[in-house]
This record gives sequence, C-alpha cells and structure tokens, in this order.
Amino acid sequence: MTDKIHFARIAIVGAGLIGSSVARAIVRAGVAGTLAVTDKDEAVLAEARELGFAHEFHDDAKKAVQDADLVILAVPVGAMASVGAAIAPVLKAGAIISDVGSVKEGVFSALEPLLPDTVHLIPGHPVAGTEQSGPSAGFASLFDGRWCIITPPEAVDDEALGRLTCFWEALGSKVEIMTAKHHDLVLAITSHVPHLIAYNIVGTASDLEEVTRSEVIKYSAGGFRDFTRIAASDPTMWRDVFLNNKEAVLEMLGRFSEDLTALQRAIRWGDGDALFDLFTRTRDIRRRIIDAGQDEEAADFGRHHKE
Ligand code: NAP
Repeated sequence: MTDKIHFARIAIVGAGLIGSSVARAIVRAGVAGTLAVTDKDEAVLAEARELGFAHEFHDDAKKAVQDADLVILAVPVGAMASVGAAIAPVLKAGAIISDVGSVKEGVFSALEPLLPDTVHLIPGHPVAGTEQSGPSAGFASLFDGRWCIITPPEAVDDEALGRLTCFWEALGSKVEIMTAKHHDLVLAITSHVPHLIAYNIVGTASDLEEVTRSEVIKYSAGGFRDFTRIAASDPTMWRDVFLNNKEAVLEMLGRFSEDLTALQRAIRWGDGDALFDLFTRTRDIRRRIIDAGQDEEAADFGRHHKE
C-alpha cells in the first residue's frame, strides 16, 4: 500500500532540521505532486530555496497551505497555535493537518479549537533527529527505520489516518499509534528528562568555580562530552518541550530523583552490590537498543579514532 500513497499538494510549515528532512524524504519517495515549503524566517527561507528541496517556497504560510491535501507543521511546539490561527481560514476541506512536534497533548489542544472541523487534525512525532537546527542540517534518510508515533483523536477519520500512516511509511518510518497522553509520558522518560539531565550537568560543570571552564573542555573525554552533544540541542525547541509537557516531565523527574537518592545512599554506605546490579541492568538496556536496530554497535558512538 505504501508505494501507492500520493498527495497532489503537500505543504510544510517550518523549514528547519525536521521540516527540511521531511521535504527531502517526500521528494525521495515521490509522494507529492507539488511540495510547498514556508518559514517565517527570511534567512531560513533563502537558504531553503538555495538548497532546493521543494517545488515552491513561500514567505506567507497561507499561500503555501492553500489547496494542500496534507499540511505538516514543523515549527517549535510553542509556535503551533500561531501557525494554526494563521492558516485556518484557507485550509482545504478534507485536508489532513499533522505536525512533527515532540509533545502531543499540548499541540492537539492548541490546534483543535483553531482549525475548521472540515479538516482532519492528526498529530504525529517522528522519533528521529539530531542536535542540529536549520535547513542545511536536514537529510532525506533521517526517518529510515525510525519510529513515527501518530496520536489520533478518538473520533479520527480512518481513511485519513490510513493515508497519514502510509505517508510516514513511504518516508522510511515504522509507525506506531498511541494516545497523546501515553506518548507524552513515554517521551518524557526516553527523551525529555535525558535532555534536561544533559542541560543540567553541562550547566553545573560550567558553573563550578574550583574546576575552570577550560579544564572542563580540555578533559571532556567520555561521559561529559556525550552530554555536551545533547546539551547543544536547539534552545527554543527544548524550552517549548518542557513548558508543554510539564506534568509528565515532573512525574518522571520525581522518580528520577528518588532513584538518584538511592544511588547516593549506596555510594555513602559502600553498597557495591547495589551499584554493580544497577550498572549490569543498564548495560543490558544498551544491548537491547542495539538489538532492536535503534543504534549501532560501534564503540564510542562510532567516533573515528586514529590507529
Ligand atoms: P529548527 O531546525 O529550529 O526549525 C524550526 C523552523 O521553524 C525554524 O526555521 C523557525 O524559524 C521556524 N518557525 C518558528 N516559528 C515559525 C512560525 N510561526 N511560522 C513559520 N516558521 C516558524 O527546529 P526542528 O529541530 O526542525 O524542530 C521542529 C519541530 O520538530 C519541533 O516541534 C520539535 O519539537 C520537533 N522535533 C525535533 C526533533 C529534533 O531532534 N530536532 C526531532 C523530532 C521532532 P526561526 O529559526 O526564525 O525561529
């Protein structure tokens, strides 16, 4: 069924890392008659036009989405409502409106009251990305073999959901359907809290007075260096994620703090067995992620080392 999916016109709002990757993957899959891209940032739009990964480039979102059968919103979560309000008056009846935002309940409740009930609002989240931003950072194979989580409302139109599922499969993704609430809870622990920990540890290290910032950079082998990669992620995107997934993030942070306290206690009382047991269990999680094809075996995250 995947190879039969086709939309006469697709519009992407937001030409950054994810929007430009979706555009490139659409062109690679040949699933759009016309592909229109829009971004509010003139410099981003000029760069996108230069890279040429769509048929049309518009500074006015309304022009891009007009007559589109599928609209993908690829802007930060906090910008979804203003984009929704801007495009609502021109959306084609029967169009599928989806997004790529990292939070799902917040996006649905921001967009649902704004959009006409003649369109199908079906949020989605490709669980794929990098710590980079902007149109040059995107690439067509970003979604290959990665999960895309679709979070349809209860009253979803089955045909529209089927078309959106086939669309993401054509872009290389494996699709999973779940409720927005469940998505937000799962992603809080697999993505949002890990980013917060990375931001926090890098922040703490750079604030330490006894260890100078230049030493932190000079001796940043191993663990710290890997945290800095995550902590280099886009500040706007991540600010919006935490502001829009408060409840689930705070719940998971509560669990995290309890477990950290238990580790503190094990170190204080010399409970080597507790430490060893945990480190053995976590090593097994890494093994299972590799076995599931979600990462590669390569040592040191595949970094190249001289012989
Ligand atoms: P990005 O590279 O910063 O791209 C976002 C683009 O949207 C920027 O060019 C931004 O312009 C533009 N934009 C912001 N507000 C807009 C508006 N009102 N109208 C039109 N364009 C607007 O960010 P990204 O990484 O692609 O993230 C986009 C979405 O994907 C976010 O919702 C994020 O949660 C989600 N996501 C990200 C990842 C990841 O790993 N990065 C993975 C999965 C999903 P300015 O730069 O001028 O603000």
